[in-house]
Amino acid sequence: MKIHLAAPRGFCAGVNMAVESLEIALEAMGPPVYVYHEIVHNQYVVRTFRSKGAVFVNELIDVPEGATVLFSAHGVAPATRELAKQRKLTAIDATCPLVTKVHLEAIRYAKQGYTIFLIGHDGHDEVIGTMGEAPEAIILVETEEDVDKLDVADEAKLAYLTQTTLSVDDATRIINRLKARFPELKGPPKDDICYATQNRQEAVRLLSDAADAVIVLGSQNSSNSQRLRELAESPDRPAFLIDGPEDLSVDQFQADWTVLVTAGASAPESVVNATIQWLEEHFDATVELKTVREEKVSFPLPKPLRQYAK
Ligand code: SF4
Repeated sequence: MKIHLAAPRGFCAGVNMAVESLEIALEAMGPPVYVYHEIVHNQYVVRTFRSKGAVFVNELIDVPEGATVLFSAHGVAPATRELAKQRKLTAIDATCPLVTKVHLEAIRYAKQGYTIFLIGHDGHDEVIGTMGEAPEAIILVETEEDVDKLDVADEAKLAYLTQTTLSVDDATRIINRLKARFPELKGPPKDDICYATQNRQEAVRLLSDAADAVIVLGSQNSSNSQRLRELAESPDRPAFLIDGPEDLSVDQFQADWTVLVTAGASAPESVVNATIQWLEEHFDATVELKTVREEKVSFPLPKPLRQYAK
């Protein structure tokens, strides 16, 4: 078996920053450190932090008054920040700056009286946070069919924004349909799908054709990992989205196959290595790195943590 190892893959700058933030918070403040929602959408990462004393909560009411709470990379709505203040929590904000950028665009358009179409997935933490910036002005659009059902009062004041982790192709189709229906639609100069999502999709698009099967490391609730699996899959090429090698079985592969291995932006390199080791052990596989693009992006830690990092 040949393994083609895609690059870039795995942790993006936002996830790196969020994960490092929680590591430093645990070290500097000691457990428990409360985290609002999963720090990133990856079961392995969440499990590891839980064992070190992080407590993940879905409601701020579950954080004791006065405790420290870390907001995850996906961002939160202003109402959540306000509630944290009311409960006298020390909030550390590990929102990815590229998500914050979308929040600021939503605020700007809403202040100017625009109705905003947010292209994204209902219920995703990032979408909940962005919609919370201007709930009265934002309409969620999930599919091309949703575009046909839209009913707006003023067609001259419309704008769109996108979740950062969408399929580039799906988002383009929805944006084109919106533009066809509402010619005066405004949008960001470049869509909001982040560099990491775009680069990982580009690598899968360029490398999948040479593969008989594709393995995407990532959790089922990771939006960008799901998009990689969808992109890789074809009628004659299976694509598996897995948390680690424990989710694989030998009968899914053949010994003479080429297998492309990649990872979503929230999947750590350790699970990639464990998967490669599993393929090596079962199929005598050899590894070839396939670099499509270099990434050199990094984001600063949240301010309250910078002193500890020094
Ligand atoms: Fe930020 Fe993109 Fe990573 Fe999300 S996937 S945390 S938007 S860099």
